[in-house]
Amino acid sequence: MLLSDNIINIKNIGEERSKKLQKLGIYTINDLIEYFPRDYDDRSNVCKIKDIELNKINTVKGKVISKPETTKIKHLSITKIRIDDGTGFLEIVWFNQPYLKNTIKYKCDYIFTGKIIQKYGRTQMETPDYEIIDEKELLSNGRIVPIYASTYKFPQKLFREVINQTLNNVKEQIKEFLPDEILKQNNLCSRAFAIENIHFPKDNKSFFMARRRLVFEELFLLQTKLLQIKGILEHKECNINIKDTNIKPILDILPFTLTDAQNSVLKDIINDLSLNKAMNRLIQGDVGSGKTVIAQILAYITVNNGYQVAIMAPTDVLASQHFEGFKNIFDKLNIKCVFLSGNQKAKEKRENYALIQSGEAKVIVGTHAIIQDKVVFNNLGAVITDEQHRFGVKQREILSKKGNNPHTLVMTATPIPRTLALILYGDLDISIIDKLPPGRQKIDTIFVNSTYYPRIYNFLKKNSDEKRQSYIICPMIEENEKMELKAVLSYTEQLKNEVFTNYSVECIHGKMKNDEKQEIMDRFYKGEIDILVSTTVIEVGINVPNATIMIIENAERFGISQLHQLRGRVGRGSDKSYCVLVSDSKSKQSKERLNTMVKHSDGFILSEKDLELRGTGDFFGTRQHGVPDMKIANLYKDIEILKQVQKASIMLYKKDPMLINDLHKPLKDKIDQFFNNLDNTVSL
Ligand code: ADP
Ligand code: MG
Repeated sequence: MLLSDNIINIKNIGEERSKKLQKLGIYTINDLIEYFPRDYDDRSNVCKIKDIELNKINTVKGKVISKPETTKIKHLSITKIRIDDGTGFLEIVWFNQPYLKNTIKYKCDYIFTGKIIQKYGRTQMETPDYEIIDEKELLSNGRIVPIYASTYKFPQKLFREVINQTLNNVKEQIKEFLPDEILKQNNLCSRAFAIENIHFPKDNKSFFMARRRLVFEELFLLQTKLLQIKGILEHKECNINIKDTNIKPILDILPFTLTDAQNSVLKDIINDLSLNKAMNRLIQGDVGSGKTVIAQILAYITVNNGYQVAIMAPTDVLASQHFEGFKNIFDKLNIKCVFLSGNQKAKEKRENYALIQSGEAKVIVGTHAIIQDKVVFNNLGAVITDEQHRFGVKQREILSKKGNNPHTLVMTATPIPRTLALILYGDLDISIIDKLPPGRQKIDTIFVNSTYYPRIYNFLKKNSDEKRQSYIICPMIEENEKMELKAVLSYTEQLKNEVFTNYSVECIHGKMKNDEKQEIMDRFYKGEIDILVSTTVIEVGINVPNATIMIIENAERFGISQLHQLRGRVGRGSDKSYCVLVSDSKSKQSKERLNTMVKHSDGFILSEKDLELRGTGDFFGTRQHGVPDMKIANLYKDIEILKQVQKASIMLYKKDPMLINDLHKPLKDKIDQFFNNLDNTVSL
């Protein structure tokens, strides 16, 4: 049997079972042995019958000394045996499992794990797990027992047997691929030991060694691959000369004073500029935390020292909103701003290109259009991206290359857990805006089911009567876009004609042309639309302070980060705002997620909660970032291991970046196998 063989080659696995395993993503022998337990049950403490503890789970070993008997009382069948372990007797019962009468063998030795109960003065062990002691090894009892995530009715016992038997068969083939040096320096056990002990740990210590090794390996593969794709972005020498950091003129124009959080980020930035290295800084700040003004101040400093600055945003709507904001301020300072977008007429573009090349345009705001070849800067001093996950390092780099190592500032609104930030942005310095500007009210969030629609609609009417505006979000699934779009459009018609007859209701969706979208948004800004029905196109940074209610339909379809982004569209003015999550989902996970939204408003806390809720699986952001699902590493908890991984992978990268050394061939092969398509993921 080879690791690459199909599971059908395993004894006991036929067509049907193999289908069930496939549903769990297990196709090959290797998949099977890398299907790690989701949990363990420590049954390693076998106790003597004389020492058993009442009302606790006990594990005992003993000989069956009575023939199993099944009696029936009404609908209940009771199967009973007695066992003896030399220190005493114990009665064991099972309910409604009459077949056990023929399974449990008289006079044989078994091990049982179950709760000890006292009933009618008799001490019994009730419905225990059991295993016969006639094999060399005990799989399901008398040890730390693995528990596999197994839906599809694949019993745990069988799982354990199949994995154990397979492991025994292929043990010798489990090869090490981590370089010796890394194993030694990080005190890691061998791969074979790890795989064996993650399934059937000899003891606690072996388990921890095994897990640490496997977590290390998983993160190491990821980190090494990322380094290969991104390289080590070392702080480059930089000839951009920022002498004047007086920002009073721009501060005087702002309608507010900076918060402490903003001032502290600004301090980081000004400090970066004073070094003769290019700045590489990420600002993480929740929606509405006031990142834009930081970008504006950096732009001001850059221009004031004689350089150009480029600001790139991921969508037209967001870029043009930024442009308005920048122009508003920089016009007052007599600094020329231009806007670049793919939608502009050729003539307009050409004029803009000329302004940029001559250096007359100082502040250049735009979409991806900014990184087109035709755009040539005169002297680019700083590059700012408002990226919300939508640009990758590659695009950022193209933009940077348009200057001579310009300073780089990246702004992101989706909070990322610390671990993930380290993996993805390990090369950036991070500043966090951790407090919202003053005067913001907490957005009240409610989670209801669809029986609440009449009340929701009345709530919206009342809000419109008071001259405030509302959003209704209808999620669309991509695969089903056409049908769903139809549903959203007809829903809007229904709302217009049957529910909100005296109000102005419009729909905005992703399939609209840009100018149509822009027109609807303009009317919404101006307050001409009371209720805006939208698919998620509004998710990305729009700012209408008069909108105070956000209804999210089928809220279960969104992840926490998206819900948080959407909710951030209200509560941007001084009026009390509300977010209503509507869902009829029965899934426990969805309900928990929505309740988390009700309970928490801080984006960073939410991101960590999300990670906690989803554990090691696919959680928000990773997919978006192109990070594959983790099998065993927990990005929430394994930060200490991650730090060691980062040191190790950087060390290796510096020695042999593309792993061409023969010693590193096994690692290289493993990485290739681990990430078949990762290179194509945009966001890396
Ligand atoms: P984001 O971080 O989501 O990009 P913005 O920069 O759009 O947030 O800021 C959100 C709102 O808060 C804007 O209307 C902005 O004018 C306002 N704002 C930013 N900083 C302050 C401040 N220090 N005091 C008061 N309002 C502020
Ligand atoms: Mg913003």
